[in-house]
Amino acid sequence: MPPSELADDAQHVMAADKAAVSSALNLVEDRRPEAHARVTALLAKLKDAPRAASGHRVGLTGPPGVGKSTLTSALARAERERGRTVGVVAVDPSSIRSGGSLLGDRARMGFDPSDDGLFVRSLATAGEVGGLAYAANSAVRVLAAAYDMVVIETTGVGQSEIDIVHVADTVVLAIQPGSGDVLQFLKAGIMEIPDILVVNKADHEELAGRAVADLRGALRTAHSAGATEGQDADWETPIIATSATKNSGIDELIDALDAHRQHLGASLQARRRLGEVRWVLDLFSRKHGEHGVATLGGPSLLDARAKRDLDGDETPLSLCEQWSREYVAALRNTR
Ligand code: GDP
Repeated sequence: MPPSELADDAQHVMAADKAAVSSALNLVEDRRPEAHARVTALLAKLKDAPRAASGHRVGLTGPPGVGKSTLTSALARAERERGRTVGVVAVDPSSIRSGGSLLGDRARMGFDPSDDGLFVRSLATAGEVGGLAYAANSAVRVLAAAYDMVVIETTGVGQSEIDIVHVADTVVLAIQPGSGDVLQFLKAGIMEIPDILVVNKADHEELAGRAVADLRGALRTAHSAGATEGQDADWETPIIATSATKNSGIDELIDALDAHRQHLGASLQARRRLGEVRWVLDLFSRKHGEHGVATLGGPSLLDARAKRDLDGDETPLSLCEQWSREYVAALRNTR
């Protein structure tokens, strides 16, 4: 595709033109090499999008059925009332596509399709390991160039395939009242402590009240057991009770999101950069394995190179391609 056409595409994405955003996300889902090359070029054009720098990337995770899509709808509506534009990407490793949309999309039917400030999209799993992480990371970067807030919604507790910790500025974990898994994970330090904890379905008041108290206890235990090492010591994870269906607690959730975004302040760029470094290393090692990493000098050297080059013009995708070329050249030379 001619460079001028690509520049137009990038301009249209940055202007939050829905058709342009939508076709950019089609590209992200397309696993053919020519689509991949176009995504790489597009993300390079979107790298310095003004909105991306000032916006907020929120990761919402939790077990299936906890109410993530309902909560996202409520959150998006409330953000729109405050005049902020919202892009939502839902990635569900376990879901099955039915007739072109994910089942969770049913919960999103309340959205006004004529609202240009709201974009909602589910990403299908490409089947192959790593495909989802690539699609989710790329999709977030497209949406971040177009909308003030990006919500990345994904199923999972503990370790999940797409580590939204590395894509999101703020990680929100939603839990179901009456379920014990999260408590165990938190106490045992298996799970990274999220930035915000939400107990949804708080219309079941008694259960929700107990869940909030249990979570407080679990966070205390995690802190005293040192399981929070490496976490942001100055941020105390708020626990918020919401009812997505009754629309309660949503203002509190927005206040907590805003407070966390403000808390990140100057460290936000460093957090995002760390996520990009992890992404490029992950992309490259999935593609070329340990041998690829070792051939280019090992993980610490690549880590340092990524930090330096991402400060310049490179994006994680373009850098991964450059490393791939170097690796292929090195293989040829040793023949
Ligand atoms: P997801 O799988 O986490 O995205 O969950 P969904 O948003 O699809 O919700 C699963 C079910 O829980 C649906 O039937 C929702 O109507 C219901 N649900 C979502 N939020 C609430 C809530 O706050 N209270 C109650 N009682 N039900 C809810």
